[in-house]
Amino acid sequence: MISDVISSSELSKIDPVFGQNSFDNHEQVVFCNDKDTGLKAIIGIHNTVLGPALGGTRMWQYNNEWEALNDVLRLSRGMTFKSAITGLNLGGGKAVIIGDAKTQKTPELMKKFGEFVHSLNGKYITAEDVGMETADMDLVREVTPYVTGISESKGGAGNPSPITAYGVFMGMKAAAKYKFGSEGLEDRNIFVQGIGNVGEALVEHLVNEGAKVTITDISNERLENVRSKYGVTIYEGNDLYSEPMDIYAPCALGATINDDTIYKLKAKVIAGAANNQLAVEDIHGRILQERGIVYAPDFLINAGGIINVYAELENYGKQEIIRKTENIYNTTLEILEKAKNNGVTTNVAALEIAKERIETRKRKKK
Ligand code: NAD
Repeated sequence: MISDVISSSELSKIDPVFGQNSFDNHEQVVFCNDKDTGLKAIIGIHNTVLGPALGGTRMWQYNNEWEALNDVLRLSRGMTFKSAITGLNLGGGKAVIIGDAKTQKTPELMKKFGEFVHSLNGKYITAEDVGMETADMDLVREVTPYVTGISESKGGAGNPSPITAYGVFMGMKAAAKYKFGSEGLEDRNIFVQGIGNVGEALVEHLVNEGAKVTITDISNERLENVRSKYGVTIYEGNDLYSEPMDIYAPCALGATINDDTIYKLKAKVIAGAANNQLAVEDIHGRILQERGIVYAPDFLINAGGIINVYAELENYGKQEIIRKTENIYNTTLEILEKAKNNGVTTNVAALEIAKERIETRKRKKK
């Protein structure tokens, strides 16, 4: 028993959920445990004013449960604003499964996770995120209808990553237009960090556009694979953040713009797919602004995936998916201009629009 080893006065200082820095008035946090399959998951439901909380499931070998909780709180909050700014009638939610996706993910574990999702009666709808594939969502679909991102052969919209990458590409072009006066990325020196599902698809767009692309990843196999396919350069140095570059595209995990990296950054634009790129939004957003680095808010430009899975719920087709995703270009430019005119960070400018939409709906509901 934890109370045997920690006194109640010590325990009262911990405030495990509501007291977390990342807690932002989340509506519900659900801890899921199943001894037989080894499932340990947390579902975070941040806000359901605009609709059911939709967001992917991430499977990751966290160092400890605090990290997992922190991640799900941050990610689910991000989903609320992502859907709000994209004009979708969805709330924000996310799930994390604690474990190694390569060695611990089994069909039984995925189906058990699906049962937990089902128990929320549609308040949370899942999809894929890091460590998940379309086939995993197909397994979840066997036990609950509250899942998106299932195979096209099973009536779903398929893997959302290519559309996410296309949206990031649109957002990047808008940021380039704002910063360099031209949306063309030809000969731009672009670093893509993380060449997984989204990163690789982004590399393809950039190479087609004539950009000079450098890639990094923790997987040598992936690096070699992407280099051989697209002829891009593998980064051989040991401090990516200090490298001169036009555009930094974080496409791995979040919080890479932090106290350790932010003053080293030589990039002129940051535009990537990773969620929660700013370790502390207010502080790091402000420093980027002061340093003249244009930051295309992550939750705005990586919305292609949610646009894609939302199609499954709303029954719209590929054309509408592309139209909505291409609109990320306009919204990004609008936000960058708004931030400049109002003297706020780009992240704040984007959040203001998202929050206003939620507040308006809340007022209408009353
Ligand atoms: P993925 O798991 O397919 O790819 C992630 C890649 O990052 C892997 O190749 C991994 O080896 C690499 N990586 C991990 N840590 C790294 C590090 N420290 N340095 C360099 N590389 C590292 O995931 P994905 O689906 O491509 O998603 C990438 C990011 O985009 C995630 O943050 C995800 O939350 C976000 N995102 C994805 C989607 C989507 O549609 N898949 C939508 C919105 C946001």
